[in-house]
Order: sequence, then C-alpha cells, then structure tokens
Amino acid sequence: MSDNHTKEQRSYNMSRIRSTDTAPEEKVRKWLHSKGFRYRKNVNSLPGKPDIVLRKYKAIIFVHGCFWHKHDCGRFRLPQTNTDYWKKKITRNVERDKEVSTLLQTDGWRVFTVWECQLKKDSFEKTMEHLRLDLLNG
Ligand SMILES: [Zn+2]
Repeated sequence: MSDNHTKEQRSYNMSRIRSTDTAPEEKVRKWLHSKGFRYRKNVNSLPGKPDIVLRKYKAIIFVHGCFWHKHDCGRFRLPQTNTDYWKKKITRNVERDKEVSTLLQTDGWRVFTVWECQLKKDSFEKTMEHLRLDLLNG
C-alpha cells in the first residue's frame, strides 16, 4: 500500500474537512434552541463524545457527515487516492458508531442520528420536525 501523505499533510486535510463538518451540527443546534430545547454539546463524559445531549429527553443526537460515517445515501464515495487508508479509517468510524450507540442505549439513552444530506435546504425542516416529534414522544 502506498501512502504519500505525510502526517502533517493528513492532519491538515482532516482539519479542513472537519471544520466544514461542524456547520451541520450548528444548524441542528440552532434549530433545537429556537424551539426551546436545551442541550449540552460535545459531552466528553459520555461514550462517543456526543454532539448534542438532551438530558431532559434522555436523548442523544449525532450529526453525521455522509462521508465520514458511510451513509448509504449515495453521497459516500471512497477517494481514488489513498483508498486503503480511507477504507480502514471509515470502516473504523462505522464500527465505533455501532459500539458507541450500543453503550449509550445500554445506559438508557435514546440515540438519534441526523445525516448531513437530510439537512439540505429542501429537507431540513422536515428532518427537524420529525426529530422534534421523536424527542417529545419519548
Ligand atoms: Zn447521506
């Protein structure tokens, strides 16, 4: 396997992709806040450091990028370069997602996943309204 990326390059690339990944999280948080939901974010003490934690509703929301978490929506495509590296990395992410979800559910949390592609302009309101009802109907 060839991997021409240096560590520095890679972490630079990752940080660039990561920073664009925070936009969907913020979008979800803002919406929740505007509807009166109060949450904590990036909770270190819980498995998977959840993006959004609503204790009152015993609910956890992960906002997942379709690429990083391999959503089967058609937006996921392995890069043509460093394919092995990405394959391993993404597979690990997916495995970790499953583990984290199981751990949280065992602790009595309800775990919701919102996908990046569901937050596009045309589907955002529908996605969030659906989530709101799920939260309230706990
Ligand atoms: Zn998707």
